[in-house]
Parts: sequence; structure tokens; C-alpha cells
Amino acid sequence: MNESVMKNETIERVNLLNFDVEGIKAWCAEHGEKPFRAVQLARWIHRYCIDDFELMTNLAKSFRAKLNDLAYIKAPVPITEKKSADGTRKWLFDVGNGNAVEAVFIPEDDRGTLCISTQAGCAMGCLFCSTGKQGFNRNLETSEIVGQLWYAERELRRENGITDPNDRIISNVVLMGMGEPLQNLDNVIPALKLFLDDNGYGLSRRRVTVSTSGLVNQMDKLGEAAPVALAVSLHAPNDELRDKIMPVNRKHPLDQLMAACRRYLKVAPRDFITFEYLMLGGVNDQPEHARELLRLVRNVPCKFNLIPFNPFPDSDLTKPERETVVRFCKILNEGGVVTTIRKTRGDDIDAACGQLAGEVKDRTRRAERLVIQKQEASDVLNVQNN
Ligand code: SAH
Ligand code: SF4
Repeated sequence: MNESVMKNETIERVNLLNFDVEGIKAWCAEHGEKPFRAVQLARWIHRYCIDDFELMTNLAKSFRAKLNDLAYIKAPVPITEKKSADGTRKWLFDVGNGNAVEAVFIPEDDRGTLCISTQAGCAMGCLFCSTGKQGFNRNLETSEIVGQLWYAERELRRENGITDPNDRIISNVVLMGMGEPLQNLDNVIPALKLFLDDNGYGLSRRRVTVSTSGLVNQMDKLGEAAPVALAVSLHAPNDELRDKIMPVNRKHPLDQLMAACRRYLKVAPRDFITFEYLMLGGVNDQPEHARELLRLVRNVPCKFNLIPFNPFPDSDLTKPERETVVRFCKILNEGGVVTTIRKTRGDDIDAACGQLAGEVKDRTRRAERLVIQKQEASDVLNVQNN
């Protein structure tokens, strides 16, 4: 049965977390309610984080009765919740059939960032990624994507005794958890619209970031439908190396990716692309790689964020020495590209990128993939070392 629909005797009830504000308006219209009622309803759900129709006091009793009969509000339920000594929080959400996805909250002085997942597993097969190694399970529904933010904001507000709907704890959202967001645009776009809508989460476009491994056609679609800030996982300065560590590059090589970045910049809320660059010891971390990167991006206004590899069990790849990362960073900065090194947060709770790995059902397939990918990883290392 479709997750978004629950049977109530003969009536199908809908999960309102699956709708953006336009969707709520359309649903209300179908049930004879005016658009301003839909706006009130959206605000109760997303600004007050309320899931009980009886608490929505400015809605008419008859409308509340209709809502109780026809609709519900349900976010995914966390299986575990971990708190790091540095304030980072990680929730593991059950999404059914033995699958789980993770969301991570990172508090900083001037912002609170929630990193959310868009798929259970991922089909892109990047060599360095523990989510990729699980293989693909399924796309998350809009309610499961939005539900991570809805749940986290509600929890954090409760704990901090916040009742004013304008006083929000999560100011930034990044789609950098599990999965490739651009492979699930049908569900991601309504979620992004809700994040941006003043009657939803009211976040500015600059504070919502989608991270992609480089699906060029879908980058154009994102730019048309919901142009938020874009981060591109680059991780290699040439096709030969990128082909080996990111299979997507065999389909969409770097010249196509750079052209797609330039097109995206025409609609982007920021005047630069953020390139994430994973630093893999002895693979892509040498000064010549940094110089090659400068040539690659010379026509793309950008910033770089260097991410030291987070090792995970069954991975043969390693993290470079700190000095190697600093030297790499210096070459890019001196070449005129603003570059930072990502701080690691939540180390004690495995909340870092690439360590997000929900349970998977098909362990046989996973084991087979691990053997193949371990072999591929050592091939890459051999190529680099020769
Ligand atoms: N699928 C999207 C977003 C999720 S991955 C993407 O690939 O961009 C978020 C980021 O974590 C990506 O930049 C990804 O390359 C990085 N990442 C994956 N595995 C990692 C690891 N083991 N250590 C550090 N970063 C990793
Ligand atoms: Fe998927 Fe991103 Fe991991 Fe690659 S890095 S396997 S695209 S989640």
C-alpha cells in the first residue's frame, strides 16, 4: 500500500506532509475549503509543528472534523537519537521494510543546520561512500523528506521551550544526507518548495542547499523548478580519475558538468557553485591535482570545500595527513578560488558525511557489492601508486 495513504474503513486518508502549500490549497479546494483556510492549515503544520487537528484552534469545527476523517500528519519515527558532546544530533528514522535514513543537526553560533536524506540507500555507487555501498532501496516520499525537518524542528523547539512560530532553531537545510537528491526530484521539489514557502518553513533560497554527484539534466530541472543553492561533489580534477571513483562521470563527464554549473549559475540564488572535494589519501590529494582543478574551474565562479575522507568499516581508502590537506587548500586559495576545509562535527556519534548508513534489508546483495567495490577501491589505489 502506498505510504501516503492510510485506509480508514472505506475512506482513503492522505498524509498532508506530502503536499507543498499549493498542494494543500488544491486538496482543500477539492473538499470545499477556501485558500485562506489552506494557508492556516499549512501554518499550523509547518510553522507551529502541530499534528493534532483539534489543536488548530482557528479552524472551524466542521473543517477539523473533515480533516480528522480525510487526512493525517505523519513524519517518520526515529529509531534512535544520538547527541554528540559538541551539540550535534543524529536521528535514525524508520522508513519501513528494514530501511532507515538519517538526519543530522549541527548547531553553530550564527545558524542551525539540518542535513537530511532523500533516498534509502543510493544507486550512484561512489567508491568512497557507505550509503553508496548499501545500494539503492527506494526514493523517500515528500512526507519522509519534509518529515525529517518537521520532526527535528519540533523536538528542538520543545526542548528549548520555544512556542513563537517565528523563532526557529533550524535556519539552514542541506540535502547532503543519504541518497542522490536529483534522482528523486518528484519528491524533492515539493519538499524544497515547502522549505522556501513563507507559510511553510520560510527559509531563504541561499540557506537551502542541494548537493549532487553531478546529474547534469536534473541540475537544469532543479534550476527551473526550485533554484536553491547548489553544491557539486567534484572529488577529482580529471575524467580518468573521476570515472574510477564516481561512476556517474562515465555518463556525464567533467566538460558537461562544468557547462551545467554555468547554466545553473544563471538562476542560482548565489553567484557561485560550491564544489565539495573529498580528500582521499594518495588518490586525489597531490599538488598537481589542485593545479589541475584550478584549470578545470577557470570559467565557473565557485568556492571549494575540502572534505577529509571519513573512513568506515570495509573501506580500503584513507584520509590524507592534515598537512597534505592544508597544502592543497593553499594552492587553491593562492590560485584565486576561495577554499575552506570542512570541520568535522559529531565525530563521537558517526554523524559525518559518508558515515550515514541506515539498516538495509538485502544483506546478501550488500555483501556482494562490498566485495566488488573493495576490489575497485584497491584498483584505484594501485593505479595511483604506480
Ligand atoms: N548524493 C549527494 C549528496 C549526499 S552525499 C552527493 O553525492 O553530493 C554528501 C557528501 O558526502 C558528498 O559530497 C559526498 O561525496 C560526501 N561523502 C560521501 N562519502 C564520504 C566519506 N566517506 N567521507 C567524506 N565525505 C563523503
Ligand atoms: Fe550516492 Fe552521494 Fe554517496 Fe555518491 S556520495 S553514493 S551520490 S550518496
